[in-house]
Amino acid sequence: MDVELRELMQAFVLSDYQVQEVYSRFCLEIAKGLRRSTNSQSNTKCFPTYVQELPTGDEMGKYLALDLGGTNFRVLLVSLKGHHDATVESQIYAVPKDLMIGPGVELFDHIAECLAKFVHKHNMSSAYLPLGFTFSFPCVQAGLKEAMLTRWTKGFGCPGVEGEDVGRMLHEAIRRRGDADIAVVALLNDTTGTLMSCAHRNPECRVGVIVGTGCNACYVEHVDNVDLLDAQFKRKEKQIIVNCEWGAFGESGQLDFVRTEYDNEVDRKSINRAQQLFEKMTSGMYLGELVRLVLVRALERNAIFKGAGNRRAEYAAILQHNIDIFETKHISEIESDTFPELANTRRIIKQLFGIEKASVEDCQKLRYICECISSRAATLVAIGISGLINRIADRKVVVGIDGSVYRYHPKFDTYIRNTMHKLVKSDKEFDIMLSEDGSGRGAALVAAVASKTK
Ligand code: BGC
Ligand code: MG
Repeated sequence: MDVELRELMQAFVLSDYQVQEVYSRFCLEIAKGLRRSTNSQSNTKCFPTYVQELPTGDEMGKYLALDLGGTNFRVLLVSLKGHHDATVESQIYAVPKDLMIGPGVELFDHIAECLAKFVHKHNMSSAYLPLGFTFSFPCVQAGLKEAMLTRWTKGFGCPGVEGEDVGRMLHEAIRRRGDADIAVVALLNDTTGTLMSCAHRNPECRVGVIVGTGCNACYVEHVDNVDLLDAQFKRKEKQIIVNCEWGAFGESGQLDFVRTEYDNEVDRKSINRAQQLFEKMTSGMYLGELVRLVLVRALERNAIFKGAGNRRAEYAAILQHNIDIFETKHISEIESDTFPELANTRRIIKQLFGIEKASVEDCQKLRYICECISSRAATLVAIGISGLINRIADRKVVVGIDGSVYRYHPKFDTYIRNTMHKLVKSDKEFDIMLSEDGSGRGAALVAAVASKTK
């Protein structure tokens, strides 16, 4: 690779020392999050989810599920059939941009409306239906049914919801309409849904991870290590799923030694400045934007499109005036390309700059930029996963993962495993499995477990 570009990208390459250091800081942060006396100073809040039973595979029944928190909003009907089996019917609805930042009540009215339409379409308007709500934002829970939003993330910012119980808000929106008999029986994070849906198939699953629009993980912890948990919840079950909310890691400066000027810029332009710093280095909402910022710099330094002469200033201007023009899915497409066609890369370069036939050299440079940014993200995610696995007593741990970045990037899984081999304790064995519809099946399983507990 060209020296200038290599130098520019050096900022994204984590040395072994840096990986170890981030790992130690992450582990410390989780330990702080779990302790009552230090939780307030910790970024990773380690919320107890009150999910204490993993599925057996025998769960039965029909459940509604809602999935809010990524790019789409979905309503699902899940039929659990026993024998580790389930079927899911679902409908995707858009969340218009103005609803993402408009009054919270309107967001919940929209959700209730989609729900009512869905139930009507499936001729279930008069049936009693239990519902599991996958609400993928940081929430303090007081039980399975109560979840108080602590902060919006991922571009959401509806006033009137932070500090409120989102289960109650949904319940009230359903009641205002009064046209369906739906009971909100469980609220859960998407990571919890992912863990549950994977555990439904593979009982060794102990960690759930999302690398999608946002980034986060949960894991199964022994109740004695969850100082935050009231004694009554420690009596019967010995385990509980803890939602780490690791996206917030770094907010006390722990990642400053590896963050770049581009990371600062992404943060500066976001609607949640100084928050979710780990998430901003690892998730789909931000990775494409990092590539765009680096490309501007590479153009200014004459490190890419060298043959373009004065045109380079034009290209830089296009990138500067169109925030988010470079999408995270472009990274996956570029890294999926095969030589010598480089069809995706050429199409994307044409789409961005109108360049008809980009040179092999420029295509390879763009790919290199993407690789540096995606492999740093995967390395950070692997640091987090390894930290959690090393806390778990079981010798073998299966990790359930979902999310658009993990799913569609051709090498994210390999990148993650490479770092995990360096960090997971040598007496342990791990495996990774892709989650099948964690937000739907997982929500139904939590709802099923909730009904069993009563
Ligand atoms: C949220 C988490 C969620 C993650 C993945 C983050 O922004 O804070 O609760 O699990 O995104 O969707
Ligand atoms: Mg999702």
